[in-house]
Amino acid sequence: MIRKTRLYTPGPTPLLPAAQFAMAAADMHHRTPEFRALLLKVLAQLKVFVGTRNEVLLLASSGTGAMESAVTNLTSPGDPVLILSAGKFGERWEGIAKTYGCEADVVRAPYGETFDLDEVRAAIRPGHKVLYMQATDTSTTARHNVEGVAKLLKEASGETLLVVDGITGLGTTLFDVDGWGIDVLIGGSQKAVMIPPGLAYLSVSDRAWAAMETAKTPRFYFDLRKERKNQVKGESAYTLPVALVAGLGGALDYIASQGGGDLEKGRMALIDNAEVNAAATRAGLAALGFTLFAAKSPAAAATAVSVPEGMNSGEVIKALKARFGIVAANGQGEMMGKIFRVAHLGFFDYLDTVALLGAMEHIAKDTLGMPVRYGEAVAAAQQVYAEAMNAAQPALAAR
Ligand SMILES: *Cc1c(COP(=O)(O)O)cnc(C)c1O
Repeated sequence: MIRKTRLYTPGPTPLLPAAQFAMAAADMHHRTPEFRALLLKVLAQLKVFVGTRNEVLLLASSGTGAMESAVTNLTSPGDPVLILSAGKFGERWEGIAKTYGCEADVVRAPYGETFDLDEVRAAIRPGHKVLYMQATDTSTTARHNVEGVAKLLKEASGETLLVVDGITGLGTTLFDVDGWGIDVLIGGSQKAVMIPPGLAYLSVSDRAWAAMETAKTPRFYFDLRKERKNQVKGESAYTLPVALVAGLGGALDYIASQGGGDLEKGRMALIDNAEVNAAATRAGLAALGFTLFAAKSPAAAATAVSVPEGMNSGEVIKALKARFGIVAANGQGEMMGKIFRVAHLGFFDYLDTVALLGAMEHIAKDTLGMPVRYGEAVAAAQQVYAEAMNAAQPALAAR
């Protein structure tokens, strides 16, 4: 039978056709009025997409480059920082902070869980220059309470900067960036904005700009003050990937179209879309008898599922690909073989969820030998979808 390839991975995610056309047409030099106009338009759209009055910058790198810039630009060697770590991406903050000589205090939670806010409160010290965390740790698919942590920082000295890796949080979770006081919020192109890897974006608060005046860690390529000087004029210090910038503009136009031309509304529609697809996926997989890996604090970005004891999640991933062309993600590090992960962020629709669950019914029965009645996962998802559409959110149903 024909098998279409379908990405269900939490980055890279499926590409938006309109963005692909925009990329193919972007035969442009980066020091021209055409590109300057494009870059200024995309930066203005990104501000709305991130939901902030703070300046937003684009960097030519994967998401980790922007994470590194949030350490090198804001700290000096020896600075105490606080890291919230509950997965591979939390551990990435630890790795970067150590590399640049920060004195890192770490609050941990087990994989699949989120942080106890009392523990976070107890760990905060006035001397901490920055608190680094994820909005969602994609390796476990747990969602973290950014608003709660932001409040704790305000109640404490109020001097610690808050840096959030929102690389899978943006487009799946609502942030009140300016109200809560998120000083740096980081996103990546291969996640909710539906284009290939290669661009990172980040919003930077006035407090964070001020901190850069005294931060002494060496930096060259990721010098945010230099980028700012250029990008306010539609320039960049070095060559930006022009095609990706054009694709990003196309994707943000599409997201705006989902809100009837209003990007702010379109962003909400994208978040609702991820929430409903995530809830339907969880209901469907639970109906089949799977255990959700981050059941207590699940992200809308992606869902991690444990396979039954004695089974290897690699078998599920292999069978999904071989039989249905579905590309799912394995667990990372110690979670490899124990969980598989499927994404909902970006260009996924409800029927993608139904398709995945239909496939999972076959895999659960044939690959894992679980007792399955065909239709039960799909039916559970349909129930969630129907309730969401009927719920007290007529706006959501109409989108
Ligand atoms: C994808 C991702 C990153 C960035 O990874 P890159 O490979 O550098 O793009 C960082 N944090 C989270 C939570 C992610 O999901």
